[in-house]
Amino acid sequence: CGIVGYLGTQEACDILVKGLQRLEYRGYDSAGIALMNGEALNIYKIKGKVSGLEELIQGKDISGGLGIGHTRWATHGGPSDVNAHPHYSSDGKLAMVHNGIIENYGSLKQELLNKGHEFESETDTEVFLHFIEQIQKDNNCELIEAVRIALTEVVGAYAIALISKDDPNQLIAARKGSPLVIGIGEDKKEFFIASDATPIIEYTKDVVYINDEEIALIKEGELTIIDVKNTPQTPYIHTLEMEL
Ligand code: GLU
Repeated sequence: CGIVGYLGTQEACDILVKGLQRLEYRGYDSAGIALMNGEALNIYKIKGKVSGLEELIQGKDISGGLGIGHTRWATHGGPSDVNAHPHYSSDGKLAMVHNGIIENYGSLKQELLNKGHEFESETDTEVFLHFIEQIQKDNNCELIEAVRIALTEVVGAYAIALISKDDPNQLIAARKGSPLVIGIGEDKKEFFIASDATPIIEYTKDVVYINDEEIALIKEGELTIIDVKNTPQTPYIHTLEMEL
């Protein structure tokens, strides 16, 4: 029931775990993070508390300046380590977290099974991610374009964040019905994503609220926003007044 993301000059792991702790009040049954360090993509996820995730990552490779994190409130597939987010694409290059529900995941899953996809979890989220992956393969396009096309076909509510090994300095996020805020660090050296501003406020007060059916691309120190019809949107920066 919460999403966090980080791209910047600091190590992502600490920021993500702290952010998940700040979102704990929203309720959840599992927690997980994905970290990108160059070409290395590591996912750690577990049923239970964020404190359990902290134990799980002890002694593991948690390096990287790019990452996404999630606290899950199970809707499709019971609470388990496997159903916890982030999920991988079938080629292992993409990792995604998702809050919400994809209502037409059953028919999408059947379509993907017919094309040879295999699924590890019972979640609608893994189907959503493989659907994006398949669209990117079919169209031989940029990831953001595959996300955009996917969003025109999924029915339901979502806030998503995803990262790709093919673009280890890129973070993509989108929403419809579930909240999503982007924090912009000083001199755009770092960017934060979260379900609400509480994980962001200690790092920056400059935030952009993403609207329904908008997709945010963070890459090369810039935040670009398009809507699902591919119309560019001007990011409007709000200054947070709240204190921790
Ligand atoms: N529907 C997804 C799942 O069951 C996401 C649930 C959530 O919002 O945490 O895994």
